[in-house]
Amino acid sequence: VLKLENIVRSFDDLVILDGANLEVQRGEMIALLGPSGSGKSSLLHVAGLLEPPTGGRVYIDGEDVSDVNDKTRTALRRDRIGFVYQFHHLLPEFNAEANVSFPQRIAGVPPGKAAERSRELLTGLGLAERMDHQPAQLSGGEKQRVAIARALANRPSLLLADEPTGNLDVETSRKVFDALMSIVRGEGLAAIIATHDQGLASHMDRVVTIKNRKLVPGLLEVSTV
Ligand code: ATP
Ligand code: MG
Repeated sequence: VLKLENIVRSFDDLVILDGANLEVQRGEMIALLGPSGSGKSSLLHVAGLLEPPTGGRVYIDGEDVSDVNDKTRTALRRDRIGFVYQFHHLLPEFNAEANVSFPQRIAGVPPGKAAERSRELLTGLGLAERMDHQPAQLSGGEKQRVAIARALANRPSLLLADEPTGNLDVETSRKVFDALMSIVRGEGLAAIIATHDQGLASHMDRVVTIKNRKLVPGLLEVSTV
C-alpha cells in the first residue's frame, strides 16, 4: 500500500530523517515509535503527502507519487489516505456526523449516503449517542474518535494516525485504540500509528522505531537494569 524509499527530511540545516525506508502491506498495522522530536510527525506528514520529502521517493499502491501535481496530490489524500492529526482539527461549528460527512461530500458522495456511512462509523466507535454534538460538547476521547471516523470516511487504503491517543488517560486511550484497531482490521486497511505507548505498540503487527534518523525494526532497546 505504501512504500517509503530513502526518505530525507530536513528543515534548513536540521536533518530529521536521512535514508528512512518502510514498506506497509495491506492489512498491516504498524506502530511508529521514537522519542519526542525524533521525527514521527515529520515522517507521517511525508507519507500522508502533507509535506514533500527533501529527498527520496514515496509510492502509494505501487505508484510513485513523489512528483505529482497539486491536484493529483489532493485527490490521493482525499481518496486513499486517512489522517488522524496529533490534535484533532475538527470543524468546531459542525456536529460529529457533519464532521465525518464533510470529506465524503467533498469527494462527491450524496448527502444521504455520506450520513449513513458517518453514522455507521460513529456507532462502531461507540458514539451513537453523540452524533449531534459539536466538538466543544465532546470529551477529548470522543473528539479523537470523531477524528478517527473522519479519517476513515472515504474508505482509504492507508490510515496514518499521529498519536491518536496521546492526550488521553490510559483507560480512554485503550478504548479509542481498540475501536481503531477493530475498524482497521474489519476494513483490511494498512495503518501506521505513531505512539509513545509501548503497551499499545505491542498489540500491533510490527513496530518500527526512529533511530539515528532512520527506521529500524522493533523497539529501542531499553537499558538493562
Ligand atoms: P513528538 O513525539 O513530540 O510529536 P515527533 O517525533 O513527532 O515528536 P517531529 O514533530 O517530527 O517529532 O519533529 C522532529 C524535529 O523536527 C523536531 O526537532 C522539530 O523541532 C523539528 N521540526 C518539525 N517541524 C519543523 C518545522 N516546520 N520547521 C523547523 N523544524 C521543525
Ligand atoms: Mg509528533
